[in-house]
Amino acid sequence: MDLMQRTLIEKAETVHQLTEEELAALLSASDAETELAAAADRVRCATVGDEVHLRGLIEFSSYCRQNCLYCGLRRDNQKAQRYRLTRPEIVALAEKAKAAGYPTVVMQSGEDAWFTAERLADIVREVKRLGLTVTLSVGERTTDEYRVLREAGTDRFLLRIETTDREIYERLDPGMSFGNRLRCLTDLKKLGYEVGTGCLVGLPGQTVESLARDILFFQKIDADMVGIGPLVPNGDTPLGNEPPGDMRLVRRMVSAIRLLLPEANIPATTAMETLQPGARELMLRSGANVMMPNVTEGEARQKYALYPGKACVADTPEHCRACMEGRIRAMGRTVGKGAGGRRHIA
Ligand code: SAH
Ligand code: SF4
Repeated sequence: MDLMQRTLIEKAETVHQLTEEELAALLSASDAETELAAAADRVRCATVGDEVHLRGLIEFSSYCRQNCLYCGLRRDNQKAQRYRLTRPEIVALAEKAKAAGYPTVVMQSGEDAWFTAERLADIVREVKRLGLTVTLSVGERTTDEYRVLREAGTDRFLLRIETTDREIYERLDPGMSFGNRLRCLTDLKKLGYEVGTGCLVGLPGQTVESLARDILFFQKIDADMVGIGPLVPNGDTPLGNEPPGDMRLVRRMVSAIRLLLPEANIPATTAMETLQPGARELMLRSGANVMMPNVTEGEARQKYALYPGKACVADTPEHCRACMEGRIRAMGRTVGKGAGGRRHIA
């Protein structure tokens, strides 16, 4: 590590601000990675503490009207196995999540028009009656739909910007507009959702400068949660022959995000674990503080295939819960007790 890198890490750790050039320099600094992660781990401990929050993930539909070039659920993927859980099935999974001790459920799906805002709102109301914090991740909707879902009691929403490079975004997500993605995120914030966003690492054409701008964007919109996914190439998609996202760069992203958004919730994601077994622990020591164990059961769990080789795909929800708790304890951390919302530190 050279003096410039040391100075940048110190600056980020104390004032939580860097310019695009400074961030790009840190993101390129593979030789400063350990120190960067150590600084992020200190900030994580000081701001959000030692608790690791668990969110039970329910993947309730694999139908999608979009065609993102990286994703196995894209509408043109003939090999995708489509399923749609019924309302009672979704509510039963939420009950299981609650019984397993998860205070929050994340209900995720492709962009499935069958689930109108009204249908989703009915399900949200039922799940809210269980006393759970509800997060939706169902893609782009109109302002009115987001309002209906918020009024039904939805607490949080996850919608990654994927990349802030408009040209890359519109090339990889054909038919989708970057402007509409921004509109969605602005709407969600205005409606009072806790908003999670994030990006993919390893998109063709993406540079460290572009990733630096992604982080500044997360800061600008005051993201409550930031999830980073390495690209996991899916052979049934047009990006199937791309190299996977660089896990070391992913780790530097996680650490830099913790330094620039000290209060944010940052998950150690399944995509990370898929590319590198043990990555979840590594990320939890490099700035992350959230895990999203899957509570989807049986066939649906295998069919929800955004990318191949999804970690833990054969495990039961009970097994996942026990395994996560063991991993967290072994690291000297504790399992989060409350809903684990975004902290506001004056
Ligand atoms: N349809 C919704 C939610 C499901 S997709 C949406 O798009 O917001 C959830 C996330 O999976 C996406 O934001 C994307 O970043 C990620 N994803 C999709 N395909 C992937 C792949 N091949 N590798 C890594 N992450 C992927
Ligand atoms: Fe659909 Fe989301 Fe996959 Fe895009 S990333 S194809 S919107 S499920």
